[in-house]
Amino acid sequence: MWSGDGITSLPPGMAGGRYRCRACRERLILKGTRPGAKVQPHFAHRGGDGCSKPEQEALLDAADEVVIRLREQIRALPGVTHCTTTSPGETITDPSGIPPAVLAQFGTTTVIIEAPTGALPPTEAIRHRVHAVHGAYDDAQHVWFLKRDLGQFSELSPHPVWLRGAKVLHQQVAPNEQQQAINAAGGHVYWLDGKVVLVPYGIYWFRHPVQHGQQWENWPNWRSDPREDWRISQPRPAPDAHTWGLVPIAFASLTRSRGTFRPADAHQVMDDLYTAQESRFNWRNQHARDQYNAPDKTLPAAEPRTEPAAQAPPPREADRRAGPDETTVPSMREPGPEPDAARPEQAGAAPSPAVPAQLAAPVIPPRPVTPPPVPTADPPPPPEAKVPAPRLWERLLRFRRRG
Ligand SMILES: [Zn+2]
Repeated sequence: MWSGDGITSLPPGMAGGRYRCRACRERLILKGTRPGAKVQPHFAHRGGDGCSKPEQEALLDAADEVVIRLREQIRALPGVTHCTTTSPGETITDPSGIPPAVLAQFGTTTVIIEAPTGALPPTEAIRHRVHAVHGAYDDAQHVWFLKRDLGQFSELSPHPVWLRGAKVLHQQVAPNEQQQAINAAGGHVYWLDGKVVLVPYGIYWFRHPVQHGQQWENWPNWRSDPREDWRISQPRPAPDAHTWGLVPIAFASLTRSRGTFRPADAHQVMDDLYTAQESRFNWRNQHARDQYNAPDKTLPAAEPRTEPAAQAPPPREADRRAGPDETTVPSMREPGPEPDAARPEQAGAAPSPAVPAQLAAPVIPPRPVTPPPVPTADPPPPPEAKVPAPRLWERLLRFRRRG
């Protein structure tokens, strides 16, 4: 059992063997609960020799510290009406190995917040926990604050998006099995990095189909294939998303709306990305028709930025983002905004078509290098994120196969 809260209200001593060490599973004694006791209340191993598995105990204590710090961080948020810790589904004989969670109340909203220290526990343990939370707290949101794992975060290149006329790089990860399991169960996977929370949306790569009356090749000023594009799934990643893009928001903004706990700022960004996606899709399809009808005229292939202010000068470079043709594009109408960030990639090698079965549907196209259109009069030079397409592709494949 965890001695986080309310220890003084527990029965002292052996209490019939109800206290057990999480590391060695031995029964513990609760000491120091009497008024005037000379020591702080604490659990002790019998015999006074301490735990027989000190390393395991230290790990558990460290995990507890993380939870306690998070609990204090959450208690400091505006709008918190109650905040404690809980271990749903935890039993003495069948410990989950998952640290206690923070139970927070925001008005009528209940949120169970997990803060695992290292790698997530096996998927089965996660499912068990999710089930226990649902059983114990009916309508509670189940949020998992993960730590950024360098391996996972360095695997994929940042995802460039256009937001309000500027290019922004979002961190991009390939979700692992546990993260997908949480997401699929309706839970929320966020990353907590200091005071910044990273909120995921889904990225689904596809290639625009060529419709009759369209010409998608050799667009002037396009170094990349305009058919290559992506669509967003939001406000949470769809199960078939290839990767997740992450929107950074301030931790303190989670409770900005009274009585709620939600990443409203991130959802706003996702809405913007979705809006941009729709106009990007439309623009590219129209441009493909224009190219077909006037193939000899060099139509400037400057993709319009949704956000770019009014009298924005004509963008010189086309976004390499392809617009999907309305008919064939899978209509995942999630309220997701998509940025039309130009994703510079080497136009070179196209990924092999060896699409893993699970991904069979959309083939992730190689990312062309196309400078994003210049949005405003004094266009800021968009940062070039060099993403070797083949590598991204290969990594995705590798990842999928691993899973
Ligand atoms: Zn022990």
